[in-house]
Amino acid sequence: MGKTDRGEHPLMFDDYTVQQVDPNWLQERVKPKRHIGLTAELCILCRACEDVCPWECIFMMSPDIIQNADNPSIQTLASQSSAVFIIDDNECTRCAICVERCPTDALWLGRVEGN
Ligand code: SF4
Ligand code: SF4
Repeated sequence: MGKTDRGEHPLMFDDYTVQQVDPNWLQERVKPKRHIGLTAELCILCRACEDVCPWECIFMMSPDIIQNADNPSIQTLASQSSAVFIIDDNECTRCAICVERCPTDALWLGRVEGN
């Protein structure tokens, strides 16, 4: 178990490879009208959302994955964060089971602006 100023929490994944997404692929795909949002201040890092997702497409990762980002503001964010949440948009069905499961209402289903 790791220890942060928020207390004990599980070790983060470190068995991943970070890759840049092809911008042409992103432009061509159909964009969903809804998305899963996170209010980070409410998250207690319990990982229940990861555990319950039927498609295994929500991940709580180590902030180390963005610590060498080109953007200084992202580097600052990484240095101040306990975890980075990533949802695989290709697999997420917007079923909202993770939203229902979250014990602190940190997750929510929202509309993409402009849709
Ligand atoms: S909305 Fe459903 S599919 Fe998407 S991350 Fe949450 S549980 Fe998984
Ligand atoms: S279920 Fe909610 S509180 Fe728990 S890790 Fe996921 S977002 Fe955070």
